Amino acid sequence: MTRQLFVTTALPYANGPFHIGHIMEYIQADIWVRFQRMRGHEVKFVCADDTHGAPIMIAAEKAGQTPQAFVAGIAAGRKAYLDGFHIAFDHWHSTDAPENHELAQSIYLALREQGLIAERTIEQFFDPAKGMFLPDRFIKGECPKCGAKDQYGDNCEACGAVYSPTELKNPYSALSGATPVLKTSSHFFFRLSDPRCIEFLQQWTQSPGRLQPEVLNKISEWFGTGDDGAPKLADWDISRDAPYFGIRIPGTQDKYFYVWLDAPIGYLAALKGLLGAGFEAYVADPAVEQVHFIGKDIVTFHTLFWPATLHFSGRKIPNHIFVHGFITVSGEKMSKSRGTGISPLRYLEIGLNPQWLRYYIAAKLNARVEDIDFNAEDFVARVNSDLVGKYVNIASRAAGFIVKRFGGWLSADLGVEGRMLLDTLRAHADTLAQLYEEREFGKALREVMALADRVNEYVDRHKPWEIAKRAGEDEALHDVCSVCIEAFRLLTIYLKPVLPALAAQVEAFLQTGPLEWADAKRALGRHAIAPYQHLMQRADAAQVERLFETPEPPKPVPGGEEVAPEIVIGDFSKVDLRIARIVDAALVEGSDKLLRLTLDAGEGRLRNVFSGIRSAYAPEDLKGRLTVLVANLAPRKMKFGVSEGMVLAASHADEKAHPGIFLLDPAPGAQPGMRVR
Ligand SMILES: [Zn+2]
Repeated sequence: MTRQLFVTTALPYANGPFHIGHIMEYIQADIWVRFQRMRGHEVKFVCADDTHGAPIMIAAEKAGQTPQAFVAGIAAGRKAYLDGFHIAFDHWHSTDAPENHELAQSIYLALREQGLIAERTIEQFFDPAKGMFLPDRFIKGECPKCGAKDQYGDNCEACGAVYSPTELKNPYSALSGATPVLKTSSHFFFRLSDPRCIEFLQQWTQSPGRLQPEVLNKISEWFGTGDDGAPKLADWDISRDAPYFGIRIPGTQDKYFYVWLDAPIGYLAALKGLLGAGFEAYVADPAVEQVHFIGKDIVTFHTLFWPATLHFSGRKIPNHIFVHGFITVSGEKMSKSRGTGISPLRYLEIGLNPQWLRYYIAAKLNARVEDIDFNAEDFVARVNSDLVGKYVNIASRAAGFIVKRFGGWLSADLGVEGRMLLDTLRAHADTLAQLYEEREFGKALREVMALADRVNEYVDRHKPWEIAKRAGEDEALHDVCSVCIEAFRLLTIYLKPVLPALAAQVEAFLQTGPLEWADAKRALGRHAIAPYQHLMQRADAAQVERLFETPEPPKPVPGGEEVAPEIVIGDFSKVDLRIARIVDAALVEGSDKLLRLTLDAGEGRLRNVFSGIRSAYAPEDLKGRLTVLVANLAPRKMKFGVSEGMVLAASHADEKAHPGIFLLDPAPGAQPGMRVR
């Protein structure tokens, strides 16, 4: 029976380029999708940029762009990564697309119809310096559950707890550093504590095969009642106040959906973007299986909020949520929000084969929620020993004789031992299919390499290069080499979901056309192949090492500035740069260029500095911000008063052609008075 599969990966937040963690998830899902297609199933494989929310609004503002232009810029960079690693989504969409606005609003209205939306006045953190309600991600403090420091306002990266920002201990604004104050506002809630929701979610999460056992264990903690007798599952705040980049809540003027309400709906919007008019019929088909690949950090959103949102708005619910762990690099943890580790784009730029990474990641993946590690030495060893040494070698040792001595024709006889070997390889088709189906890619690849070992043992026993030297043994040579080529074809079928580009080369070389899984059950028989062309390079340790080097600085842009003459470190250390908070900013009467800044550089006094940034910043936008001050610049008497230092800002050499002034902005956590060195 042909399965209909609707498959997604988590939507990446459009505030930056992909990191290795994204690529790992896409590779995992892409392998699974390619495998399903080889089995003859029909898959719609989609993803989209997650574009909304305050972090993007703030990042766009900093970049001097509209949020729409900012996310369009990020989206334009996606293709190089996806094509580069052979990740074949059918469609890439945006949560700011019209489909998502319509779907989010109609789902919300359906939930309201069900009596599952409540309106309540809440107290929320407000940044007095910035003049806005603070998004969860911009409030930091200590986790109320485990006490970990510097945790975000919505969940803890250390213990995974989900909470409300007002529960954080010692909160501070990551935008201005100010201590936030509580202010009231009217918010909309999805009533997750409603008995209908709890009953549905208990039943949904416990349906066999829906969730991995360890995920179900984790989720079960969220059910039941707390010490106060109330359900542990709390109602979910789904609204945010303007200013906010998002989807407006129907019936309001200044309320928007919280980004986590409309982000998963983006899965449906992406599918609609792919299917157009056929969308409604497709999602109404009960035979369609809906599958989401996600990381372990967003389990709560996908196993509680998302299925409940879908179910109570009368839509198809997910069949499977496949959760994976994180990827570490040389044992070092990376975080989604802080984004460290190796750069996928650099991997491609220095000419490393993308299929090496696909193979390496697949070899480490299993169906459990476990972290995997990228280790350069292990990577080189694994690629060279498995892919080149065990697999590609089989073809390169046999193909020459077939072409030179037998005009490219394979023997149909093969001999008893050869036939038994090939039968063994064929007999693994079902087991391997089962392993791919269950996302046990590591186990599958170990099995495939064990089969490759048996083929290599066969080659070493028969030594075709020696048979070739003996007269009158053409038939034996023909049989042994034909067994190798047929074995190579079978191994290629088993590796094709992981190595799609290599498989395409092999299909051309073997002249088979696109290999399907079922082709493993058929013999090639009498068949002609093309001359062998080199299939895969060995990985070189020195080349892989370049992944960890600091890349060359980019070449200066045309029309940009030449770099100033070289200085030594002593020259630089004469300049005393300090973190300073802009306590106040005001227009300067009689000047259209200057702003008057009042700065706190942690000296127990305030400084007065005139800065030529008026064209780029409104005074009220600067209050509370941190920046960098040249603290030991000789005071300068100006027409408007004395300027005690200078703040740092970037601009293009040709300001007319490339307008814009960008004030330096230290990362959150920096404190006034700290020296920049
Ligand atoms: Zn915690």
